[in-house]
Amino acid sequence: MIIIINDDETYLKWLEDNPEGYVINAARKPKADYIVLHKSTCGTMSSSKRSNWTTTDLLKVCSNNVEELKEWALETTGGACQPCKTCNPDK
Ligand SMILES: [Zn+2]
Repeated sequence: MIIIINDDETYLKWLEDNPEGYVINAARKPKADYIVLHKSTCGTMSSSKRSNWTTTDLLKVCSNNVEELKEWALETTGGACQPCKTCNPDK
């Protein structure tokens, strides 16, 4: 599991290298009300129309183990992550 902050290049490379992986999108100071779990193939997580993936006030947590990400969310914020409605990572 890796946490990526201020490094869009590493983030986009990880998505490319791990098409079966999962990504958590969260605020730089993660809050329970905004921790969203995506598949690494989710269109909203790598659209070429955007470029501020890990900069400004966001960070990404990437892993091939979805349980690891859920645990991170729980430990960090005390809450569960919300599944993205676009890519349905739980299915
Ligand atoms: Zn998604």
